[in-house]
Amino acid sequence: MTKKYVVKFVGLSNGEHRFEYPIGKKFFEDSDCEDILDADLFLKLVLYKEDRQMRFVFDFTGSIKVLCDRCLEPMSVPMNFSRELYVKFGHEYEEQSEEMIVLPWKEHSIDLTGIIYDYILLAKPVRCVHGEVGGGTQVCNQEMMDILSQTEMMDGGGANDPRWDELRKLNY
Ligand SMILES: [Zn+2]
Repeated sequence: MTKKYVVKFVGLSNGEHRFEYPIGKKFFEDSDCEDILDADLFLKLVLYKEDRQMRFVFDFTGSIKVLCDRCLEPMSVPMNFSRELYVKFGHEYEEQSEEMIVLPWKEHSIDLTGIIYDYILLAKPVRCVHGEVGGGTQVCNQEMMDILSQTEMMDGGGANDPRWDELRKLNY
């Protein structure tokens, strides 16, 4: 995996430092993520460095592509959100909470790959359906919906469908 999302903080002066990272399809391929098909995200990261602690502010904009939970066709989900992370120093690595981690004193840099990945997955809506997320301009693929509802009927879901009565008459 590339070391693209690593911030080397040793050597940086105290104060504000800005970083920018595009996050595309490859990021999720490298993470073995099958839920996210594609991504066009941009991360603006600001590091506020102090002597004994650091604060990172993550600002995500853009969209990801996932499969619709209803018609199973790809759809675009806008992702615009921010997160904050405090980093303190101690004897060993520890995740104290979602917003606070402890890094060993000897560390020179922090790898944010896993953190960025978790933020995006947690920010993704639990249910993604055309028109329900990402505005009303996206609609479900009717052809796929028809195929899916036919499959459902064959599974016994359409037992009370009047069309079945017609079929039964033909059989007797
Ligand atoms: Zn759909």
